[in-house]
Amino acid sequence: MQDTEKILGTAESLCPECLKRIPARKVAVGRDVFLAKTCPEHGEFRTIIWRGPPDYQTWAAAEQPAAPQICATTVDKGCPFDCGLCPEHRQHTCCVLLEVTRRCNLGCPVCFAAAGGGGDDPDIGTIEGWYRLLLASGGPFNIQLSGGEPTLRDDLPEIIALGRLLGFGFFQLNTNGLRLAADGRYAKRLKQAGLSCVFLQFDGLDDGVYEKVRGTALLDIKKAAITRCAELELGVMLVPTLVPGVNTDEIGGIIDFAISRMPTVRGVHFQPVSYFGRYPQTPADNDRFTLPQLMQALAAQTGGKMQVSDFRPSSGRHACCSFHANYLVSAAGELKPWMSEAVKSCCQPQLATGGASKARAFVARRWSAAGSARTDGEECCPGIVTDSLDAFLHDIDSRSLCISAMAFQDCRNIELGRLRDCPLHVLHPAGRLIPFCAYNLTDNRGEPLYRPPR
Ligand code: SF4
Ligand code: SF4
Ligand SMILES: [Zn+2]
Repeated sequence: MQDTEKILGTAESLCPECLKRIPARKVAVGRDVFLAKTCPEHGEFRTIIWRGPPDYQTWAAAEQPAAPQICATTVDKGCPFDCGLCPEHRQHTCCVLLEVTRRCNLGCPVCFAAAGGGGDDPDIGTIEGWYRLLLASGGPFNIQLSGGEPTLRDDLPEIIALGRLLGFGFFQLNTNGLRLAADGRYAKRLKQAGLSCVFLQFDGLDDGVYEKVRGTALLDIKKAAITRCAELELGVMLVPTLVPGVNTDEIGGIIDFAISRMPTVRGVHFQPVSYFGRYPQTPADNDRFTLPQLMQALAAQTGGKMQVSDFRPSSGRHACCSFHANYLVSAAGELKPWMSEAVKSCCQPQLATGGASKARAFVARRWSAAGSARTDGEECCPGIVTDSLDAFLHDIDSRSLCISAMAFQDCRNIELGRLRDCPLHVLHPAGRLIPFCAYNLTDNRGEPLYRPPR
C-alpha cells in the first residue's frame, strides 16, 4: 500500500475470473476511491469506483433500505447466488424490466443485453403469466419493456394493453427509436394501448458518436423519434450511455438539446458504461466514468447552470448507485433546482410503510408527458405558494427537467451491499426477480451468472 492510501472500509465483492464471493477493501488515494480485492486463486484486482468531489464517505452515508415484501427463494449459497428475491434482499421491487424479445435491429458495440440475432419471443400467454406472477409478488410495479429492441414485436401494444387491464399503471419503453421514427401508426398504437413514457437511447449530437457506440449514424432518426413522441404527447427521457473518450464531452450539448425539446423531453438519464454484455475485456481505470466525474462534467459543461451540490443520492437504493436533481427551466433558459422533500425519486424507502403508490406515481408523473400522469394527493415543492394548485402543477410539469444517472455494476466494481439494496429488478424467464446488475453480470470471459443462454 502506498503511503498516501487510506482504507475507508470493507465490502463484499466477486472475483472477476471465477465469480466467487471475496472480501474487498475501499481504498482512498486523495479524493479517489478504489475497490481492491484478492481471489486466492486468481490474484489481485483493483478498480476505480469514485473520482471525487463530492466526498465519497459523506455521499455514501445516505442509505435507507427496507426488506422486500415477498421472497421467492431462500438463502442457500449466499448473495448473489440466491436471487429470487431472497430474504437477504433489503429493498422492495419498484421497477421490473421485462425482456419481451432478444432480437434487435442494431448491433451496438455497447449493449447491456448482448442482444441481437434470432430466438423466439415469449408469447403473450407467457407474458400474461409474468404479469400475474408480479401481482402475486407484491405488484403492480412500474414496468420497463426491454429487450433486445422491444419495438420489433408487432404485438407490443397488445402486451401493454394486457398489462393495463391487469392493473399495471406505468409502462416505460426502452428503445433505440428506429421504429418510432419510421412507423407512425405503430407509435400511435403504443400510445393508445397505454404507453406512459419512452426511454430513448440518445448518446450525443454528433453522428461520429453513434457510429462508435451504436455502429451507425442515428442522430436524424433520434430527432425524428422525438418529433413523433411530441405529436403523440408521449414523454421522452433521453438515455445516454457515456463512454470515456467517446461522448463524455457531449454532456452539456445533450442537456441543451433536452431543454430545446421540452416539454416532450422530460429529462436525461445518464448511464456511464459498465463492462458486461459485449464488453467483457478488462477496462483501464480511465475507461470508467464514475458518478462524481459525471456530476463535475454536468457543472462544467453547463457553464455552472448546474452545480455538483444540486445532486443528491436517489432514495430507495444504495447511495453509490445513482444521483438525481430536478430543475425548473425559465423562459430565458435559467435552471433552478427544486426538490420535493416528500418524494425525491421512485423507489422510495417509504415503500415499506405504504408509500409505494406515491413513489411510483412520482416517476410516472415526472417521466410521462406534461399533465398526463397527474394523480391525487401528490406532494409538490415546499414553500411555494400558488393560488391555483392545478395551474402550478401544470407549470411544474411542463418546465421541469429531471437529471439522473445510474452507475451499473460489473464483475470488477460490484459491491454486494449495493446489490442487496437494489429496487430495479429483471423478471427471469424462470419466474425469479433478479436485481438488474446481477442479471447482467458476466465474468471476465463474458459468461453470464443469470442471463439465460440464447
Ligand atoms: S441480490 Fe438480493 S435477492 Fe439476490 S442473492 Fe443477493 S440479497 Fe438475495
Ligand atoms: S441496477 Fe445496479 S446500479 Fe442500479 S440500483 Fe440496482 S444494483 Fe444499483
Ligand atoms: Zn477467482
